Amino acid sequence: MTERSLPRAIRQAMPVAREVAVEVAKQYGVCIRPIPLRRLDVHTGRWEIVDVPCGATLDAKCPSCAKRNRQLRMAQCREGWHLDQEPAITPDEPNEEQRWLVEFRADLQARRDQADALGEGTTDWDAAIEGVDAEINQAGMRGGVLGRTVPKRTRSTRRRQDAPNLPKHRMTATTLGRTFESSDGKAYRPSLFVTLTLPSYGKVRDGVPLDHETYDYARAARDALHFSKLVDRFVQNLRRVAGYDVQYFATVESQKRLAPHLHMAIRGTLPRAEVKQIAAATYHQVWWPPADTVVFEGSHLPVWEDGTGYLDPATGEVLPTWDEALDQLDTDENATPLHVIRFGDQIDVKGVLAGTPDADQCIRYLSKYLTKSLGDSLDTDNPAQRQHAARMVEALRFEPCSPACPNWLRYGIQPKHAKPGMAPGRCRSKAHKPDHLGYAGRRVLVSRKWSNKTLAEHKQDRRTWVLEALGQPDEAPDPHRYIWKPVPAGDANVPPLAIRLLRSVAERQRWRTHMAQLQAQADGQDLSATDLGRAA
Ligand SMILES: [Zn+2]
Ligand SMILES: [Zn+2]
Repeated sequence: MTERSLPRAIRQAMPVAREVAVEVAKQYGVCIRPIPLRRLDVHTGRWEIVDVPCGATLDAKCPSCAKRNRQLRMAQCREGWHLDQEPAITPDEPNEEQRWLVEFRADLQARRDQADALGEGTTDWDAAIEGVDAEINQAGMRGGVLGRTVPKRTRSTRRRQDAPNLPKHRMTATTLGRTFESSDGKAYRPSLFVTLTLPSYGKVRDGVPLDHETYDYARAARDALHFSKLVDRFVQNLRRVAGYDVQYFATVESQKRLAPHLHMAIRGTLPRAEVKQIAAATYHQVWWPPADTVVFEGSHLPVWEDGTGYLDPATGEVLPTWDEALDQLDTDENATPLHVIRFGDQIDVKGVLAGTPDADQCIRYLSKYLTKSLGDSLDTDNPAQRQHAARMVEALRFEPCSPACPNWLRYGIQPKHAKPGMAPGRCRSKAHKPDHLGYAGRRVLVSRKWSNKTLAEHKQDRRTWVLEALGQPDEAPDPHRYIWKPVPAGDANVPPLAIRLLRSVAERQRWRTHMAQLQAQADGQDLSATDLGRAA
């Protein structure tokens, strides 16, 4: 690094400069963890280093990106809720940028795995991968990169989820809800705002159990782990009863008692009583092997043998693999699901009309906590709440979070894709972490036909609007102009972070000045101050 040649006094002052630059960057809404990338401009034949935003979705990581992401989500929610025409959904071919991101993601994964194999920390790699995943989603691809790599296991019919007893309507091929006409001929487009919570695990006051001895932490932990499956079931049942292809925009948040709950904007309407009936009838059975009897713990743990797998340390017997354990479950006539999850009776269903202040308020409410992690609802000044959270994390510690969770060893089963070095209580999945409290799924759930646009397209809308306001043509960038490459760690061509942040701030400042001038011109014209504020 060039910094080596600087006098010691200046070198020592650098970290302070960096902190100051980060604070200034935050004030200006500039990404504080930019990812440097090398790009070749094929028009000029020049390589340059460019910062791309980290794309963090959580405030704690990069408030600037988190805030921008929240605004995009609000725009997405608003645009889809009361659509009056069917959205046209045609998945696009992956473009250059998307393909590049996926390749880059593969490189990062390889380096992360290498670091892991060498016993080095992987925190930075994990953070980088998370950032790239967010970029990939924002680049318009749906879902994760890995997707489904193995064919889904077919279950015996007996193990199928029983269909709850609910009224059924003939399906019509529409995603739009009904409209109603008032006597003066005006059309109303009513929709729903639904809040679903989990059942009680014991009495609580201010988010803290009155008696932690009797509070059902084990159940709370399993419910949180499988919450997203229950939400899927609810949507399936909702569509079956509603008789049309119901679309939704939902967010998962934490209640004060640290259980996940769901807010859902639904396009179209059903009678409130029917929605409550659907929620009450919805459940999900977790057909996993039993995990209630501890087989191995402490220093009595399964041992790995190359080419064989995990063995019983005392007898040398090979433990059943994940697939064998599932087969065993299938043939056992008396088997019961490991867990059955249902909603609690605190279900809130509210009718909302398109374009009313009420609808706006719901959208703000839906996105209110999007920039916080689930664990952030914790009141850290309150020792009782801290203890409650610690007990929840403890309950999650040995609970299997997925078929690949090392915790299966505790119950005498080899986890799926077993490999050496696994130990119960040391699963690194998000679900076990205090930030997630069991729920490691997506925070925003948007059905495929919610709006006509991907998040990337909503981003483009914003850009178009700003360029129009600035009186500049919005030319589609030439997708073949740049070739992108990752920057190796420690590349001396990357300037110190403080300098990169301050450069971005200066750019933002120029832009804001320009917007302020426009605003002055706009006084008395069509452009309102709030319109301009929205762009900033
Ligand atoms: Zn950022
Ligand atoms: Zn796990």
